[in-house]
Amino acid sequence: MAERAANHLFDLVRAHLPAEPAARTFIEAVTPSGEARFTYADLLARSAAYANALVALGVRPGDRVAVQVEKSPEVLFLYLGTVRAGAVFLPLNTAYTAPEVAYFLGDAEPALFVCDPARAAQLAPVADRAGVALLHTLDGAGRGSLADAADAAGDAFADRPRGPEDLAAILYTSGTTGRSKGAMLSHANLASNAQTLAQYWHFTDRDVLIHALPVFHTHGLFVATNVVLVTGGTMLFLPRLDPKTILALMPRATAMMGVPTFYTRLLKEPGLTRAATAHMRLFVSGSAPLLAETHREWSQATGHAILERYGMTETNMNTSNPYEGARRPGTVGFPLPGVALRVVHPETGAPLGAEEVGMIEVKGPNVFQGYWRMPDKTAAEFKVDGFFITGDLGKIDRDGYVHIVGRGRDLIITGGYNVYPKEIEDEIDALPGIVESAVIGLPHPDFGEGVTAVVVPGEGAPDEAGVLAALEGCLAKYKCPKRILFCDALPRNAMGKVQKNVLRESHSGLYAGSSKT
Ligand code: AMP
Repeated sequence: MAERAANHLFDLVRAHLPAEPAARTFIEAVTPSGEARFTYADLLARSAAYANALVALGVRPGDRVAVQVEKSPEVLFLYLGTVRAGAVFLPLNTAYTAPEVAYFLGDAEPALFVCDPARAAQLAPVADRAGVALLHTLDGAGRGSLADAADAAGDAFADRPRGPEDLAAILYTSGTTGRSKGAMLSHANLASNAQTLAQYWHFTDRDVLIHALPVFHTHGLFVATNVVLVTGGTMLFLPRLDPKTILALMPRATAMMGVPTFYTRLLKEPGLTRAATAHMRLFVSGSAPLLAETHREWSQATGHAILERYGMTETNMNTSNPYEGARRPGTVGFPLPGVALRVVHPETGAPLGAEEVGMIEVKGPNVFQGYWRMPDKTAAEFKVDGFFITGDLGKIDRDGYVHIVGRGRDLIITGGYNVYPKEIEDEIDALPGIVESAVIGLPHPDFGEGVTAVVVPGEGAPDEAGVLAALEGCLAKYKCPKRILFCDALPRNAMGKVQKNVLRESHSGLYAGSSKT
């Protein structure tokens, strides 16, 4: 038999296949209409079938395969089939509208666009205008014209050779300011981070992971899925966050990865107890800041300390709280093995000492290859010594734990002073009766920006005057919000991130015509 050519990422999956692939479950899909089980033998056969189907359609190594479909196990087989065919997987958020899809297709120029059959009529002309030659469909139940093509294709495939530097995926950033950019992720970026995380978090083939995240984002697609793939474990696959079902699954599971909303929603379930979570060994949170209060409430209810980690589309995961050792609420832990992280002065680039807040920069095998077709943007985001400027402001404390203070663009400059929103948010959140808050800068005629807090009040929360009075004693005057606004809930995106840009837009005129207040 001829020697098989190397496919960097899929070879890693092969290297960790269970001894008897047909006897081991890779995915158990838990949907309202029932359960379906897919073994590692199914993974091999189905990803080969998709790879064959793609090649038969004319998809060549290096071509992009853009995919905007509902979550299902088939999407993962298509992801792996794309990687095996040497092509580049490009998932798109299912919430994107036709004009948004038009931008992504025009920018990425995929060879094939896969969408939900229900949207094919609407999106076919969009794909056509973008010059995309092929359109196929796949629905949330794993059916559609691409699934049919895979059914008809053979279930053995000779993986196309791909080296560590070749692209495996392009993930577009969520683009809350400016245009969304395509982050180019290589085989080695994905493979190295999966191995690092699996080791750091002690994953083995005995793990059963609750997977209720979307699969168009780095958290659900790469962190969760790849960690299981490189350890030969099992996933319990839910179409979306469903606290009651998650609770019911915990006695059969060992780990869960979620965004902070998972934890706040689960905390509202009366069934969340030590007994209900006794079989679990690990709860991971990331993609948005986990409130220290949520961390504590979770510990009280379950006896488990949530492990918070920090990463981004461009870099995969950068830091993690320790598996053994103190998982400190409000921090994102230490740089992962192989990842260099530093905090520098945002203007001068000079390295800062412990406890000093500045721009977080990272370097390592996890860091992406650059923005798709944006060489200038890529050059602007990398330092000459190879460090990537994350855009996140933070600090490293005296014990080496990394703290995220907020996005650089969320920094408020008022009367020439820098104000870091998180410091103000922490003070407000600690007041009795306050559920949560978001602090933003709004255009102000005298100060440039006026510090403004948008607060979700709970029972017994103080009113505007009460919040301001409480903050007066603990914050320097320039940091104190000029106004406190109240709302029922903060606007969040699919990954649970507070959309401060939405808040800034909707309150942009608040200080128009104000003089010094
Ligand atoms: P995304 O590219 O959508 O994954 O977003 C990445 C951004 O999410 C980072 O640059 C951070 O601003 C934020 N983020 C991710 N994890 C955390 C965390 N644990 N705490 C605070 N912010 C986080």
